Amino acid sequence: MEEQTGRSLLALGLWLLAKSQELRAISPAPILYPDSVPELPEVETIARGIDRRVAGDTVESVWIGSRTQPLKSPAGVIASTLEGKRILRVHRAGKHIVFDLEETAHPKKGRRAVRGQPRQAASLQTAQWIVHLGMTGRMVVCEPAAEVAKHTHLIAKLGSGRELRFIDPRMFGKLSVHAGGFDPGGVEPLEVSEERFIALFRGRKTPIKSALLNQKLLRGVGNIYADESLFRAGIRPRRRAASITREQLGKLHRAVREVLREAIALGGSSISDYVDADGEEGFFQLQHRVYGREGEPCLVCGTPIRRVVLAGRSSHYCSNCQK
Ligand SMILES: [Zn+2]
Repeated sequence: MEEQTGRSLLALGLWLLAKSQELRAISPAPILYPDSVPELPEVETIARGIDRRVAGDTVESVWIGSRTQPLKSPAGVIASTLEGKRILRVHRAGKHIVFDLEETAHPKKGRRAVRGQPRQAASLQTAQWIVHLGMTGRMVVCEPAAEVAKHTHLIAKLGSGRELRFIDPRMFGKLSVHAGGFDPGGVEPLEVSEERFIALFRGRKTPIKSALLNQKLLRGVGNIYADESLFRAGIRPRRRAASITREQLGKLHRAVREVLREAIALGGSSISDYVDADGEEGFFQLQHRVYGREGEPCLVCGTPIRRVVLAGRSSHYCSNCQK
């Protein structure tokens, strides 16, 4: 009997080993999110990665493909805004990547000289290039000899000799240029004070989850981090915002920031792969406590995680830990 158990345990062990190797062969370590990504933490780490690579570089020339879907400003305007500019800094605003641009001191030959028209030049000196990655958009910094990937919509040749490319197979991404001071609306979740956060949600009749996803209130929080934040705060996604106490909203404020910060810290270690590589890589993800774990035991109390559909999106929660 004992021997039999031992043998079946050995068989199970071998099967698990084989299975894990099989899984590893199918899906390499990075995991692609099934939900709409990237969310705020991914965009933050991508923006930091691009900033590290191209801040201080200049854009010499721009090639834009024939597909117009990703272009939210006319191709000619995007090209002329970028060309001849120095990239001062790349940062995140909501789920947008923002390139702060400045006219170079020595414009390229044939380019409109800034000298001699100082008044007009003031408004021409700075601009912003806004990139929204949508679901499948990627930015790559590479050598010009690198093969141009399918679905490349824009290539910026840089003064350093490298190229910055925008690739997007599904074309939900968006490219546009702004004169400056780009404001995507809503409040930045990592900067919002507790008082302001409470004021945003207090008294709203909608479910708290819907309010968290409302980009006019907080910008950049998507489905995954909304579910994770609500779990940490012990609040059910369907609870009406108006029924949540100030104290609980304070807890949610801390949970949202904690979840986003942890994800950013984690993303920072994988972003170099993402920006440079040309394959199918995704993001390393925070270990989700509820998101995508329907039917699995809650990591705190063991109750199976539930899934409900709210405004067309899946919401995951523990019916014991969240009230
Ligand atoms: Zn639980």
